[in-house]
Amino acid sequence: MMEEVNEFDYENRIVSNEYDSMQDAEVENSLRPKTLDEYVGQQKAKENLKVYIESAKLRSEALDHVLLYGPPGLGKTTLATIIANEMGVKIRTTSGPAIEKTGDLAAILTNLSDGDVLFIDEIHRLSRAVEEILYPSMEDYSLDIIIGKGPSARSIRLPLPKFTLIGATTRAGQLTTPLRDRFGVLLKLELYTPEELASIVKRSAGILDIAITEAGALSIASRSRGTPRIANRLLKRIRDFALVKGDGTITDSIAKFALDALEIDELGLDNVDRRMLEAIIKFYGGGPVGLDTLAATIGEEAVTIEDVYEPYLMQIGFLARTPRGRCVTKLAYDHLGIPFVPGGSQKAFDFEE
Ligand code: ADP
Repeated sequence: MMEEVNEFDYENRIVSNEYDSMQDAEVENSLRPKTLDEYVGQQKAKENLKVYIESAKLRSEALDHVLLYGPPGLGKTTLATIIANEMGVKIRTTSGPAIEKTGDLAAILTNLSDGDVLFIDEIHRLSRAVEEILYPSMEDYSLDIIIGKGPSARSIRLPLPKFTLIGATTRAGQLTTPLRDRFGVLLKLELYTPEELASIVKRSAGILDIAITEAGALSIASRSRGTPRIANRLLKRIRDFALVKGDGTITDSIAKFALDALEIDELGLDNVDRRMLEAIIKFYGGGPVGLDTLAATIGEEAVTIEDVYEPYLMQIGFLARTPRGRCVTKLAYDHLGIPFVPGGSQKAFDFEE
């Protein structure tokens, strides 16, 4: 089984959601839409946001605190920047793990101006102590700080500017209830359709000066796991193939050639997905297998499986979540070319969730 584990090369996935390099991060910034109208898809979230933004502007007040949740790469950071743009205010960006001490948060909060947006990415990773400072800041725009130590210590209350907190997390359920309850607006971002992704790919190609045909864009889109960040990343890699193997234009056949070379199949699955599904079939008779057991088998963290790998496999109906664990569906067996035995050996294993 150990040999099997080494085959999971998560770090170097082309369809990974992580940045390759600083250069990737810079290109990503240049591709971020600046206005709600430029932001493709997420119709429901956008319509609601338009109303809240309009209303806050009419009242000349700060926008209510917003929580954005959904898998990585779907546009949470982008949306936070757009909200600040549309409100005509400044944005200060940080992340849960970056705010180590309560003093760090106090410094950030006291430096904001009225109406400003404070964006905290991975907000579920704030420490308990920092989170508690955040409660009165969000509710009453005030900061309770303790000065002195021991018996002479006393608490003073500092007024803060009326800011808007935008938090981002992969799952709303990861937040503590008191923190979640302090957000007035909760918006869930959904995986994108291939058509929406195709229009994102064409827009990005325009910005990066890459020639691409309609069919080429759709070909990339349909293999991008519903995720704009992956679509943009594939676009850049496939441009290399277009330059070297073609005349520089990304056509349907160049896109298909490149995606095959990158071992990404027509549904956007790569080796890592296929091996994970095969591991469930091989070692657990197709499931159910508990999340922690699966994580140990493939040498990946449970949260990464839940946040990064599963959403897409579930959306395309390859993986089902049951009370007793994850199961590979017949659809996935068919895709992998493995004969499906109804009822199979599913009873042989009984793992706790
Ligand atoms: P998240 O914060 O959810 O991980 P980001 O906001 O960083 O995701 O988005 C990742 C990339 O995808 C960015 O480069 C952005 O340009 C692109 N992107 C995300 N959502 C959209 C969208 N709705 N329309 C166009 N591009 C998008």
